Amino acid sequence: AMSSDDEGREEYLFKIVVIGDSAVGKSNLLSRYARNEFSANSKATIGVEFQTQSMEIEGKEVKAQIWDTAGQERFRAVTSAYYRGAVGALVVYDITRRTTFESVGRWLDELKIHSDTTVARMLVGNKCDLENIRAVSVEEGKALAEEEGLFFVETSALDSTNVKTAFEMVILDIYNNVS
Ligand code: GDP
Ligand code: MG
Repeated sequence: AMSSDDEGREEYLFKIVVIGDSAVGKSNLLSRYARNEFSANSKATIGVEFQTQSMEIEGKEVKAQIWDTAGQERFRAVTSAYYRGAVGALVVYDITRRTTFESVGRWLDELKIHSDTTVARMLVGNKCDLENIRAVSVEEGKALAEEEGLFFVETSALDSTNVKTAFEMVILDIYNNVS
């Protein structure tokens, strides 16, 4: 994961995957983080496999290569190539749809099966702007995260709440594990 740039400065490149049921907001979390964009219409992610976002930690350039499923999760056909080399993961559910929260265990199992290294994992309850139709409490999210040993945060890709935090906490944890 580490290399040096032209001037000999250390650089890091971390692969991070975003997983979770269809329509929980994975693509919008990524577009909000990487481009500050949100799209109201759910259109299948076509073409873009990943986005690269840089941040500086302790004077070092840290690049996160964040992967988005191209809608394969609809068919439960996320391939092992998607997970290969990942050192971080955001496991996303939609706080307004209980079934997406109930799927989290399956996504964690899949992640475990496909990873051969320690993966920094963040449980993300997205769409927290929709408080009026909430179906999963903050406490339930926290409890599951604690049980499984994950970080936890609720986000809104719509109003930007905690989006940066969700990605950057994972990146920082990976950095702390390798540096
Ligand atoms: P994906 O299938 O997991 O990639 O989900 P998308 O990013 O395509 O989002 C699915 C739908 O949920 C789209 O209509 C989005 O506009 C909507 N959406 C995504 N994030 C949020 C959010 O934080 N709040 C609200 N209210 N809607 C969201
Ligand atoms: Mg998507």
